Amino acid sequence: MSLEEYKKKRDFGKTQEPEGRQKSTGKNIFVVQKHKATRLHYDLRLEMNGILKSWAVPKGPSLNPKDKRLAIETEDHPIEYATFEGTIPENNYGAGTVIIWDKGIYKNTNIKEEKLVSLEKSYEQGHIIIELLGDKLQGEFALIKMKGQKNKWLLIKKADEKADRSRNITNERPESVKSGKKIIDF
Ligand code: MN
Repeated sequence: MSLEEYKKKRDFGKTQEPEGRQKSTGKNIFVVQKHKATRLHYDLRLEMNGILKSWAVPKGPSLNPKDKRLAIETEDHPIEYATFEGTIPENNYGAGTVIIWDKGIYKNTNIKEEKLVSLEKSYEQGHIIIELLGDKLQGEFALIKMKGQKNKWLLIKKADEKADRSRNITNERPESVKSGKKIIDF
């Protein structure tokens, strides 16, 4: 786990994004940041070993278990990134607006043969099962690495009591859970 790639991509004299010093929050936080860069996407980040493991989800999360949302793994981000909301200036990596679309904590619920598989092992095996306790996202989700792919995963809602086939959560709730702002308000 290293922030080398994250730091290499950014000039901290120019962007307001955090450089990263904090080691861990002491709880398993997650955040989904709606990011209007060249293309709109949602960045899902999970705290793991003092960093945020990150995936860019072009269509965003869905509460419908039938939807398999492509999630492209991106570079690890620092813990402090979970509170970042604002505008990354032009000519910088990821230039555009970032809002905190959802946040909360998660629980590792990957049980195999009656034993909990550690999050690190789940990640290594490309098979992460977690319960999200967010404002908008709740219940179990699976992150499954696609076979033969270097960084492509699928984000799928598990069919539990929090699943909802009728709602479109990204359309219904476009606002930040931190400020109430929408991307267009920046
Ligand atoms: Mn992004």
